[in-house]
This record gives sequence, C-alpha cells and structure tokens, in this order.
Amino acid sequence: EACLARIEDAGALGAFVHHTIDVAREQAAQADKRLQGREEAPALCGIPLGIKDLFCTRGVASQAGSRILEGFRPEYESTVTAQLFDAGAVMLGKLNMDEFAMGSSNETSVYGNAVNPWRRQGDDAALTPGGSSGGSASAVAADLCLAATGTDTGGSIRQPAAFTGITGIKPTYGRCSRWGIVAFASSLDQAGPMTKSVRDAAIMLGAMCGHDPKDSTSADLPVPDFEAMLTGDIRGKVIGIPREYRMDGMSAEIDALWAKGRAMLEDAGAEIRDISLPHTKYALPAYYVIAPAEASSNLARYDGVRYGHRAKLAPGDGITEMYEKTRAEGFGDEVKRRVMVGTYVLSAGFYDAYYNRARKVRTLIKRDFEQVFADGVDAILTPATPSAAFALGEMKDADPVQMYLNDVFTVTVNLAGLPGIALPAGLSGEGLPLGLQLIGRPWEEGDLLNCAYTLE
Ligand code: GLN
Repeated sequence: EACLARIEDAGALGAFVHHTIDVAREQAAQADKRLQGREEAPALCGIPLGIKDLFCTRGVASQAGSRILEGFRPEYESTVTAQLFDAGAVMLGKLNMDEFAMGSSNETSVYGNAVNPWRRQGDDAALTPGGSSGGSASAVAADLCLAATGTDTGGSIRQPAAFTGITGIKPTYGRCSRWGIVAFASSLDQAGPMTKSVRDAAIMLGAMCGHDPKDSTSADLPVPDFEAMLTGDIRGKVIGIPREYRMDGMSAEIDALWAKGRAMLEDAGAEIRDISLPHTKYALPAYYVIAPAEASSNLARYDGVRYGHRAKLAPGDGITEMYEKTRAEGFGDEVKRRVMVGTYVLSAGFYDAYYNRARKVRTLIKRDFEQVFADGVDAILTPATPSAAFALGEMKDADPVQMYLNDVFTVTVNLAGLPGIALPAGLSGEGLPLGLQLIGRPWEEGDLLNCAYTLE
C-alpha cells in the first residue's frame, strides 16, 4: 500500500508506464497465504517490484517503449519474471525505458522520458535517470517499489543505477534466461536486478538466474547462495585498476571518486594492482557496430502482421507498403538509425570491413580481460559513467555519438560477457550521485557482490 501511494504521488516522474494494481493485489494475497504459519519467509515473498517494459508479462502490455508494440499483450511470461513471481514477488507495473533499450537517457521512449528524482543543488532542471532502464532506476530511487528488473546490453542497468544512486548488476552472459525478454542485441543482452543495496541485489539475482532449456545460451550451472557470500572479507583479493579507463578529459571529480574506491578496497585488505586492457579504446566503436547489426536482424520481426501496431493502408497498397508504413510509423528515430547502421554493416559489400572486423575486436577485448584474470586479478574497479546525470534535453538533439560516449566504461563488459556491478559511491560537487563499477570473473557474481559490499 505504501508503494501504491508513492506511485500515485510520483506520477510526474514518468517511471511507471503500465499499472498492474489488480495483478499486484492478487499476488500479494497469494504471498500472504504462502507466509501464513511459516516461520521463515521466502526472500521475495510479498516484495513489490517494478518490471522493465522489455519483459513480456502475460496478459499485461509489454511494449519495449515502442509504438510498434502498441496493444501487444503477450500470452506468455518471460522466464525471469516467472521465476521472480514463483519466489513470491509482486508486480506493481511496467517501467519506462528507451525504445527497444536503445539509448542512455530514457528519451527515446514512446511514453516520454522518465525523470531522475535527484536535482542539482540550487537548480531545478529535470535530469535524466539514465537509460535504457531509466524508469527502473527512477522508481527504485524514489521508493516507488523495493527493487526493479533491468536489462543491460551496453550499460543499461549500470549507467541508470549510477545516475540515480542505486545498485545494479549485469550478470555474466548466460546467467539469466533471455526467453521472453524483447531482444535487442542477443549476444549482449542480459537481465539483472536494480536495487537499493548490494544485499538486495544478491537476493534478487538469486531468484532471477538459472538454467532455462528455452534459451540455448543460458548456462547450465548451479546458482550459489549469493547472499551468503556477502561476508565483507576481501583480504588478499587482487583488484585491478585499468589505466586505459583514465580517459582524456576525465573530470577531477570522477578521478577522485575512483581514488576513493581504490582506498576503500585497500583498507578492506585487497591488493591494488595497476593493469592494462589495451583494446579498450576500440570497445565503443565495436559495440556500435555489433549491437545495431544484431538489432537490425532482431527487429525484422516487427512487420505489422505478428505483433502490435499496423499502419492504415490506402487502396491499392500491397504487403510491401504495409511493411514500410508500419515500420515508418512504429519505430522512432533512434531505432531507425540503428536498423540502418545495422543493415549497412551487414550488407554484402561492407560485412568484412565492419561487422567481421568488430567481431575480431570483440575477441581481442575479451582476451584482454582473460589475460588479467589469468594473472591473478579478481575484480576490476572503474568509474561507472564519465559524469553525473545530465539535464533532459541536453544531449537529445545533439550528435547521437555524444550520447553513445556515455557508455564508454560499460560496453566492454557486455562485449566480454562478464559480470559488472555499479553502485553509489559519493556525490558530485552539485550534489548528484556518482557510481563506481566493479567487473568480475565470469560466473563469479558472488565474489563480485562481496567486493561491492565492502564499498557500500
Ligand atoms: N546506451 C546503450 C545503447 O544505446 C545501452 C544499451 C543497453 O544496455 N540496453 O545501445
């Protein structure tokens, strides 16, 4: 009830785009029943969550922030949300996001942007909550729900978490099933929790992940008790500080935040080591070839026949006109840009020059990480974002590449398939949250969460 009241009051944040109060009351009643007479409650029993609009939820609008999915009500439930509901979680509604998760400010959403509950000191300008999981970040930061689901293809959990002062983890590629999550770039997409604390992230991640025969890339590995791994003991762990992440023009404030994180880990008994990830500078261009390539293929299914919106046709229009008009009306500018870039880099004449080259670069980036892990590094500390949250509108109409630069610290992790966590680590001079990122070894989310725990 407290969350529902908060949601009413905070409508202006634009965090929730579909309310599911009836579903929530029904799930809450079920949770009450499950709890009756039990001394120990399942961890998520009765916990009110928000669900990113990218997850298909049975019978509930699931539009991925796009006009083209208008009216789409899936007849199935994504594996991740099904597992959360089985663990007793309650869905309050669907959360705002950039269209098809393409963006870093939540401004490409068909619903209009979500707003960051934080403001700069002495300045009333509305700020972005980040993207693409902007609604999730805004809702958790403003206490509209206890936690939310996010997805992260190139930073969409970690960047909004950093912009709103919450915690978000992208697990190893293959930890969470992608089944029933609207696909953006299938070799990069992962779901993960966005929460108020590392402990909440550990609990929620445990319920979200696990093997799923319906997703052939989901890993058949046991899911450890992540919460039990939060001992706070990181003595003897080796933390790498990658020199290539010290970008030209990095602000003094971000530099100081990074130094503070380093000192905290050292105080907790970790050994700090300067490391090199030499191919880092190619990550952003490789990502912005690979992600649009996969997106252009994934989005081919929105043809006006199978899902959602179909354009009104004129007499004499045939199937080609139906495709063209539907896609012209249904997709926003950023999505069209990605589809055009993607089809271009996959086209016969340019495939080797762009897509294949980007895939080779991706392998080199992955090898950089493998090398430092083989040399004994347990986790890598970096800033989560190059700046604090920026004002809504500030970047929207600029050169789109300016927006892409936001992802400079986060996309490497997706390209290499590694787990990465962002967590709040201080405030900017203007009083806005700043986040640090820790990157871990594949499948070792438990150790990564424990490292992050010492930074809280
Ligand atoms: N900013 C990235 C992009 O626009 C974020 C993608 C994501 O993680 N969903 O592609």
